[in-house]
Amino acid sequence: MSENPSLSNLLKEERRFAPPAELAAQANVTAEAYEQAKADRLGFWAEQARRLTWATEPTETLDWSNPPFAKWFQDGRLNVAYNCVDRHVEAGNGDRVAIHFEGEPGDSRSITYAELKDEVSRAANALLELGVRKGDRVAVYMPMIPETAIAMLACARIGAAHSVVFGGFSADALATRIEDADARVVITADGGYRRGKPSALKPAVDDAVSREGTTVEHVVVVRRTGQEVAWTEGRDVWWHELTQKQPAEHTAEAFEAEHPLFILYTSGTTGRPKGILHTSGGYLTQVAYTHWSVFDLKPETDVYWCTADVGWVTGHSYIVYGPLANGATQVMYEGTPDTPHQGRFWEIVQKYKVSILYTAPTAIRTFMKWGDDIPAKFDLSSLRVLGSVGEPINPEAWIWYRKHIGGDRTPVVDTWWQTETGGIMISPLPGVTEAKPGSAQRPLPGIAATVVDDEATEVPDGGGGYLVLTEPWPSMLRTIWGDDQRFLDTYWSRFEGKYFAGDGAKKDDDGDIWLLGRVDDVMLVSGHNISTTEVESALVSHPSVAEAAVVGAADETTGQAIVAFVILRGTAAETADLVGELRNHVGATLGPIAKPKRILPVGELPKTRSGKIMRRLLRDVAENRQLGDVTTLTDSTVMDLIQEKLPAAPSED
Ligand code: ATP
Ligand code: MG
Repeated sequence: MSENPSLSNLLKEERRFAPPAELAAQANVTAEAYEQAKADRLGFWAEQARRLTWATEPTETLDWSNPPFAKWFQDGRLNVAYNCVDRHVEAGNGDRVAIHFEGEPGDSRSITYAELKDEVSRAANALLELGVRKGDRVAVYMPMIPETAIAMLACARIGAAHSVVFGGFSADALATRIEDADARVVITADGGYRRGKPSALKPAVDDAVSREGTTVEHVVVVRRTGQEVAWTEGRDVWWHELTQKQPAEHTAEAFEAEHPLFILYTSGTTGRPKGILHTSGGYLTQVAYTHWSVFDLKPETDVYWCTADVGWVTGHSYIVYGPLANGATQVMYEGTPDTPHQGRFWEIVQKYKVSILYTAPTAIRTFMKWGDDIPAKFDLSSLRVLGSVGEPINPEAWIWYRKHIGGDRTPVVDTWWQTETGGIMISPLPGVTEAKPGSAQRPLPGIAATVVDDEATEVPDGGGGYLVLTEPWPSMLRTIWGDDQRFLDTYWSRFEGKYFAGDGAKKDDDGDIWLLGRVDDVMLVSGHNISTTEVESALVSHPSVAEAAVVGAADETTGQAIVAFVILRGTAAETADLVGELRNHVGATLGPIAKPKRILPVGELPKTRSGKIMRRLLRDVAENRQLGDVTTLTDSTVMDLIQEKLPAAPSED
């Protein structure tokens, strides 16, 4: 992007949605919060830290004497698990359900805060019996079951950092992460249920820990499916045997606010994953505050459901730490949205009267593809706030979500953040913000974000460029595990004194922020920087398109040419006429410069295991190259299908 400082600002979206009066009248946060935080940012965060129960109250909010290595609340001491569990029981809420677990085969169980306290205490005692100590690392490789949260909290309780590895990752991916973190123990399960059948987890662990020089001493195995597992005596232990014999009492020790809480490797959308380190006091402060403010959480009455996997940061911050710190009641679902039928999510919303739903654009676009009639069969009237995270949400998907899931009533909050930021950074507030479909809009109170050009100068309203964070925030990553230099190089070297997130963004005429995708994906067409997100959103706004992925492929005349891969909606037929119509539709929406040169209808798009479109592989296809690394793909056969189709696809020359 160097020769062309700013991104074109092509997409015009004029629809506006005021917060529902009823919600605004009783919202947790009012517009005043922005003013208050602006007047005294550190004072604002010091106040938010008082949501937590500290063994020693912090007197210093931020030490930024050695940037970018931040210390938040550093003289404070607390126990994160105590904050997420015990204190709710002590406050008389032990009977409140913490987790309604819904297994994929249809089994369910509800765990109260009092029960969770016993389970976490037993698990903490169990880890101590295995020799795990404060400062050690524990790898967690699990399906979506309550024991996953219990294991994480047990680690936090004894001061061991967990490193959760998504259960869909291979033995190799697991081995690299275990090795990078020097984990002493792996907590896993025999398997979990996915797409109607038990899948196995233990074989990958056996493979990963059998490698030379492994640091792993014990493998703890939860029995979830009852399938046969290979067993190594002395090393392997059953979770139930180990935990059942432990006392349900464990006194939680308070640790320094900067004590490591977890390492989490980024999703690997762009390359080699980085071990992001998060610590205790600042992290918990921000995830608790944002979960309460962005979702307008009322812990006594709301039923919250975040559909992410605990293996991603969304699961860490908005299934485990944020909701539990706030004493929320939540749903945890093990399986996939189409098992045993495509209405499974809506059946769960109806069953538990879910009032707050947090999911990803990839899921929303899939539901659009499946058809409006599916959610229409269920009672979704309990919903009052909808959230989105993971990728830019196309305005049309936003509208669909609000209309077909939110009954045309609920606010939709598009939350921008990353593994590195630990918590939500940019998002509307449901009781305050007049929402714009497709925009994350404003940094939250206490957060400083803006858009700059190549020279690090803030762009004016209406301009595009790079999203940067200009002030430290409590839940910021502290470093890349074991690699301070990579931390500096990756995030702090592009713009002096600013954190660069890797994402392109624009400001609209009101100064609201629109995310435009990763800067690596930005296309340069005839001297104009064009964002993939805007072209994709234009395609998705056509009634025949459910999902689109756009890349720039090398082109002799224009430098790069826009190539679009589209998934058509249920009834649309793939014809040359339709392709021409789509091309014209993009031209009419964004301008002739953004017209794709080629449009290919495809059956599937390559996605990472966290559901994000992997454009670099599509670029390889469009440029006729050998495919790059496909290990983080969910399904590598989709690339073969796309490759076969490409030569036949018409091109507008
Ligand atoms: P890697 O860093 O390993 O390539 P990743 O960036 O996909 O993987 P995550 O930390 O899970 O890993 O994702 C954060 C990224 O997801 C953001 O940088 C941004 O590109 C995208 N993202 C998340 N939420 C939003 C959102 N609301 N709007 C736009 N983009 C979003
Ligand atoms: Mg990233």
